[in-house]
Amino acid sequence: MVSSILVVDDSRLQCEHAATLCRRLVPTADIQCCHDGSEALDHLRVSEVDIVVLDLEMPVMDGVLLASHIANEQLAKGIIISSSKDPKLIASVGTMSESSGLAVLGTLQKPIQESCLQNSFAKFSALKPRSTAPAAAAARLPEITAEELAAAIANDEIEVYYQPKLTTRGLLLKGVEALARWKHPLHGFIPPPVFIDLAEKTSQINALTLKLFQRGVQDMQACEQRGLRLTWSFNLSPQSIADSEFSKGLADILDSAVVNASNVIFEVTENMLLENRALSLQALARLRLYGFGLSIDDFGTGFANAEQLAMLPATELKIDRSLIDGVSKKWQQREILESTVRLAKNLQLTTVAEGVEELEDYLLLKALEVDLVQGYYFARPMPIDALFDWITGELSDLRNQTKNLVV
Ligand code: C2E
Ligand code: CA
Ligand code: CA
Repeated sequence: MVSSILVVDDSRLQCEHAATLCRRLVPTADIQCCHDGSEALDHLRVSEVDIVVLDLEMPVMDGVLLASHIANEQLAKGIIISSSKDPKLIASVGTMSESSGLAVLGTLQKPIQESCLQNSFAKFSALKPRSTAPAAAAARLPEITAEELAAAIANDEIEVYYQPKLTTRGLLLKGVEALARWKHPLHGFIPPPVFIDLAEKTSQINALTLKLFQRGVQDMQACEQRGLRLTWSFNLSPQSIADSEFSKGLADILDSAVVNASNVIFEVTENMLLENRALSLQALARLRLYGFGLSIDDFGTGFANAEQLAMLPATELKIDRSLIDGVSKKWQQREILESTVRLAKNLQLTTVAEGVEELEDYLLLKALEVDLVQGYYFARPMPIDALFDWITGELSDLRNQTKNLVV
């Protein structure tokens, strides 16, 4: 049963119309109205809301950005998208929200019809309670202290694994992404988001990233000595890029190692860029001045628009796994992917599809002329020695298996 609804629409008339319908359909529910996205966000962060009825076109914070906050912060159980815009756009936002785990109960044209709204509410009643799996998994995670993390960083307990990035044409190894791995002597494998988050909260992220980068640069040299020229991607946290001392630290490591900055790519997430535009533009420009490549990671989860993207000094766009996984079977997802690839190509960015797990998805990505692919279908992240073995072994098997296949 729906017990609380928030209607968000900048038009008071439309808002009142939707609220009246809601009152008629669910007289027992608490129904509130907000007239812009930021006001709605403030409300949602302090109140329990079941359903948000959301207009896409609003000034200040548009509905698309609000939907991404609702999805990422799990601020409601479901949303109903209402708009007078192109039905395809509405459907796209629906798909995006769903891929972030938010139930989209309806995508409705304005003015909202009572029967359509009723159908959406019926879907809410049919929703399964949200899985408690992530919470249970989190409960099983060991409590790691800031001191343990500091010791692990100092004692080089945190390692770097590498995941290959391959060209769609010919499956040539173009580069690798460095991913942090911590095998705790007592607790075992600790997922990166857990200790990265702790490192950020306890101001240890710069120290950790610089250590990993140093290790990465050594591996880069070892690779070049074997005649392998690759690009090396590293993930950066928002706190690090905002710190000018940190970017100097990166440049110093590189200077002392005689490797080329243009072979290094830093990945920053789309969400981070959206949240702090002015600061990130400056910081990114500084990194580009040092000669590093810049990649926009997790693209497709944050709803950046074309203009915002065009302003960034980026060199690469990494399309998020949620847009890639299963794309060959879902036409709507495919349309979003196609327009994302077109956008990236217009901006002359290298396109990378991450999280490729299926052969069919890879073949589609190849047909769409995405430049690079990365994912479990090709290889999991691995230590540097395993990477050397993989290059001489499994990589050629992969090429043979996929050589003459088309979508
Ligand atoms: P990310 O940057 O988006 O990295 C990609 C993640 O997806 C990695 O998870 C990788 O193992 C996983 N992955 C790759 N291919 C596939 C696939 O086909 N299917 C699926 N399901 N997953 C795939 P990982 O290593 O657990 O890292 C998670 C996140 O932690 C990373 O997401 C990144 O945001 C963060 N992270 C990892 N290492 C570092 C680091 O050194 N510094 C910072 N700041 N963040 C890091
Ligand atoms: Ca990444
Ligand atoms: Ca990513």
